[in-house]
Amino acid sequence: MNTIKKLGLLGGMSWESTVSYYQAINRGVNARLGGLHSAPLLISSVDFAHIEQLQHKGEWNKTADILIREAKHLEHAGAKAILICTNTMHKVASNIEQNITVPLIHIADATGHALQQNKVRKVGLLGTRFTMEQAFYSSRIEEGFGIEVVIPNAQQRETIHKIIYEQLCKGVICVDSRNAYIEIINTLVAEGAQGIILGCTEIGLLIQQNHTNVTLYDTTAIHASAAVDFALGP
Ligand code: GLU
Repeated sequence: MNTIKKLGLLGGMSWESTVSYYQAINRGVNARLGGLHSAPLLISSVDFAHIEQLQHKGEWNKTADILIREAKHLEHAGAKAILICTNTMHKVASNIEQNITVPLIHIADATGHALQQNKVRKVGLLGTRFTMEQAFYSSRIEEGFGIEVVIPNAQQRETIHKIIYEQLCKGVICVDSRNAYIEIINTLVAEGAQGIILGCTEIGLLIQQNHTNVTLYDTTAIHASAAVDFALGP
């Protein structure tokens, strides 16, 4: 009988993408072990309205306090690793890491490894304004993996950000929004991007690989796959 390590998910940011994680991790474990195997998981799902307000007020320390508290609960309940199920909240990943004794599986590291495997030298990044504009995400990819990160222009960033919070986090999927994203992806490809990071865990709900010729790096799928590797690893 295989022992599968229990994972702790910090979810609810938004819950729409936590569903994707739950499904991907369970499917990933089952694909490897077969039968009726599924993933032992603990999920702490927060109230995203509160987190979102703090994000937009720049009160990141308060968001960190909430996630540290929840991560500790997950660890005490038996989680052997923690995942923050959102790119944006990796802004406070190191605060969380310092307050737990189990590993934190970092979404940008998992993505960097996937890019490196495909020998990508220059990549486009889509995500919330926080993820696209602040150094915590792109510098981790640039410095950790030697991959150049390009981002959309200011107006395009605003469009992407708005669609994430006003539609995707509420489960609203619009063809017009998909077309807007595809157009932005095309401008990044024209600037030399060899792949596109879907650097927000809800973007995979809107755009899939069949919508474009450029290779998409869906951080939800990549992060979930890294979690499965950990759960089934030595
Ligand atoms: N889930 C999104 C992300 O991956 C955005 C929601 C949030 O701000 O956490 O960044």
